[in-house]
Amino acid sequence: MANKFTQTGSTEENLDPIAISEAQFDRAADHVKGLKRGLVEFLKKPRRVNIVNFPVEMDDDSVQSFQGFRVQHNRVFGPGKGGIRYHPDVTMEEVISLAKLMTWKCALVNVPFGGAKGGVICDPKNLNDRELRRITRRYTSELYDEIGPYQDIPAPDLYTNEQTMAWIFDTYEVLHPGFNNRPVVTGKPIEMGGSYGRYEATGNGCLFITQRFLSKALIPNHQDVTGMRIVIQGFGDVGAVAANAFHRQGAKIIAVSDSTGGIYSPAGLDPAEVEQFKARQGSVVGMADTMTITNEELLELECDILLPAALGNQIHVGNAANVNARLVVEGANNPVTPGADRILQERGIYVLPDILVNAGGVTVSYYEWVQNQVHEQWDYDTITEKMRAKLHAAMDSVFSRWQAFVVGEESARESIPDFRTIALAIAIERVVHATLLRGIWP
Ligand code: NAD
Repeated sequence: MANKFTQTGSTEENLDPIAISEAQFDRAADHVKGLKRGLVEFLKKPRRVNIVNFPVEMDDDSVQSFQGFRVQHNRVFGPGKGGIRYHPDVTMEEVISLAKLMTWKCALVNVPFGGAKGGVICDPKNLNDRELRRITRRYTSELYDEIGPYQDIPAPDLYTNEQTMAWIFDTYEVLHPGFNNRPVVTGKPIEMGGSYGRYEATGNGCLFITQRFLSKALIPNHQDVTGMRIVIQGFGDVGAVAANAFHRQGAKIIAVSDSTGGIYSPAGLDPAEVEQFKARQGSVVGMADTMTITNEELLELECDILLPAALGNQIHVGNAANVNARLVVEGANNPVTPGADRILQERGIYVLPDILVNAGGVTVSYYEWVQNQVHEQWDYDTITEKMRAKLHAAMDSVFSRWQAFVVGEESARESIPDFRTIALAIAIERVVHATLLRGIWP
């Protein structure tokens, strides 16, 4: 298993994704009552790991071999659910840790799915659409019955999108003719059974969770996002939608970035203009009236809210002391490492965790799956309001559990757990409770 370390002076941190997910789990498990040891061991491991190797003919007549993964962590609440990412740095360990995260996310927002995740090691930036289609079809056919509407339901993630989902659906349909196969994937194009509001769900959810959190008055002088200065790392499906959503509510987006670098404007950016610029130029960098900064500099800018919405492990022991925000809102999965969590907590910077902040995506994916079952298409406002209510309920449950520590109901604890630990504890408790209610087989 690959162990990656970050080295910063005398501090070093284990960035292996499995080690991180286990460290987070252990911290949360301390707060789960009656958790049997055997269940801890079971929940730390994935239920099933699929590794597929397959050849694909490239446009230059060469043949390339690809490796892909699909991991199902837990299915106590229903079929597995989780995105598929295409990235050169995909590893089995990362996919396992992300599948676990999906279990906790679904449990936290009460959608009847388990946790799953997939990935293919490839570099989409150097592949054209025809090659991507062949990779997607072959990967899907290799998985065959490992995915399915009641088995495991993929969705988009890093560098996959609704086109990828359309190819997966089409391939699955060829392999399983004669059924309503639409619910096999979510995040599909609207005309193929996709849901209104799915594309915007994760970015909008970042706003809804932040608004609900601010309404609890933990950040002095800021009970809503109006006038707050926001810095966003990543300007893709999550980051760009979140930027627009915060901007519409009167927040000031002072910096955004993508894989090529960042742009900074203390006066505030118009996210719609940045989107147009990126669509034309392929990058946010170079936009008029902005300063060019690196992604590292972006994470250390003075702001009110820092919203990482790109890759994992971006805020770590090497830079957490330099984070200059009042609140970190995890749009991406795992952007803050356990070491950074500790440093930020010591510095009084709240972190709203991924399983809460970016759960809007899986929530609307669930609504897409329901619509597909009954052959309906609900409107954007209905879906978005249903999602808002679910996210608010999840935020409230995390906050009230946290408050119980603050007001001393659980005063035996030396220190107050952070929001990630509380959110995970709630999710783990629900999964454990359901497992025991169902009864351990046989
Ligand atoms: P995306 O592919 O649409 O966008 C990713 C963005 O990150 C792009 O702007 C890309 O340029 C940027 N990026 C890549 N490498 C970077 C780097 N080194 N530094 C800075 N920026 C970099 O992906 P997405 O769907 O927006 O997903 C972003 C994150 O959110 C991922 O962690 C994903 O797992 C998580 N997430 C996504 C969804 C969803 O519904 N899309 C749901 C839950 C969680």
